[in-house]
Amino acid sequence: MTVRVRFAPSPTGRLHVGNIRTGLINWLFARSQGGQFVLRIDDTDVERSTKEYEDGIETDLTWLGIVWDEKYSQSARFPLYREAMERLKAAGRLYPAYETGEELDRRRKVQLSRGQPPVYDRAALKLTPDECAALEAEGRRPHWRFRLEGKRVKWRDLARGDCEVDTASMSDPVLIREDGAFLYTLPSVVDDIDMAISHIIRGEDHVTNTGAQIEIFEALGAKAPQFAHTTLLVGADGEGLSKRLGSMSIMDLRESGYEPLAVISHLARIGTSDPLEVGESLEALAAAFTFGKMARHPGRYDPADLSRLNAAVLHAMSYAEAQPRLADLGADLGEAFWLAIRSNLGLFSGVSNWVRVVGGAVDPLIAPEDAAVVEAARELLPAMIDGDSWSAWTAAVKDRTGAKGRGLFMPLRRALTGLDHGPEMGPLLPLIGRDKAVRRLAGETA
Ligand code: GLU
Repeated sequence: MTVRVRFAPSPTGRLHVGNIRTGLINWLFARSQGGQFVLRIDDTDVERSTKEYEDGIETDLTWLGIVWDEKYSQSARFPLYREAMERLKAAGRLYPAYETGEELDRRRKVQLSRGQPPVYDRAALKLTPDECAALEAEGRRPHWRFRLEGKRVKWRDLARGDCEVDTASMSDPVLIREDGAFLYTLPSVVDDIDMAISHIIRGEDHVTNTGAQIEIFEALGAKAPQFAHTTLLVGADGEGLSKRLGSMSIMDLRESGYEPLAVISHLARIGTSDPLEVGESLEALAAAFTFGKMARHPGRYDPADLSRLNAAVLHAMSYAEAQPRLADLGADLGEAFWLAIRSNLGLFSGVSNWVRVVGGAVDPLIAPEDAAVVEAARELLPAMIDGDSWSAWTAAVKDRTGAKGRGLFMPLRRALTGLDHGPEMGPLLPLIGRDKAVRRLAGETA
């Protein structure tokens, strides 16, 4: 069997980490199976869908390195959905219903007050053609419901194991609204059939759609694909992510300066039995992917984990890879500079702090109690500074002043960089250079 999966976002907003995780799992699964990944833009809701959001989806996927083999837009495929609609009508599986939202609400309340499940009572199925005509003469337009068979629908879910729903306990789903608009369900099934999708991989919020969708596949003469419904992400506090989507969009992560490999590694491993570590590449993450590793409990999305992975990506980044980006920032001070500072970066943009520390101007920090150590250090600074100078120099300062450990190194760091944290001083000192070092040790801004 050829594995074909689809990622089907609606272009009604920016992709957030939850959506893209679904896209990524689809992609990893397809790649791990030598299959194909279809990008399907679910834009049947023409009022809420925009080209800008569609472009945003492509930008986000491309940035993350998730390439699609084929792309379709549902808005270009309405004739197929209409054809399926006619087939379902002809088969007696799609029937017109005329209730207004208020009428349905009222009935639901009555059912609930009687302790009955709020399932649609199928009153519309009993309407005669004359009664339908009379309602239409009143100006009512029908919406269209799919008549469920009312049976136990079973499937083996790759993420959840054996699943079963009883469609007798469900309302017949509305597939077409009274203004003629297709809701998500029917176009999705029609496309899954037409595009020969072998696996539907999506969030478990769609489990409730699956029973009806399997019946629709069958009503259209097709066999349902396999399903995998993955658990949703929760925030570090265990709450659903949806409340804070604003700060979780992929666009925001990109603009905040996160590395795509960190985002991908995080999302590929959240909620799995693999440790949260940086993967070597998308291909390596795909090779390691199986549904068997996915936990049954929700994955915790903790921004602190992403920051940690981001730092790890930067710490391992070669100069060759960093160089064009350093050049873009006007911060390419050579390989020795990159190697000296990379382990201190949380975000790539942090480079500019170290450009300033190396190039000036820095206001030295010299506490009164450290003045003697700093003064001795200035006097003992070697005439030529290279990568080996630091240890001999600090040993000499130690001998002269008796300062040692933190009491020795911190005053020097603070005087030379104006900061009390940062990269190792050994490689940094020659980058700062003797002239600036002397002036900073003398308390001058340099
Ligand atoms: N457009 C739907 C969504 O974003 C797709 C659901 C599906 O994968 O079937 O929720």
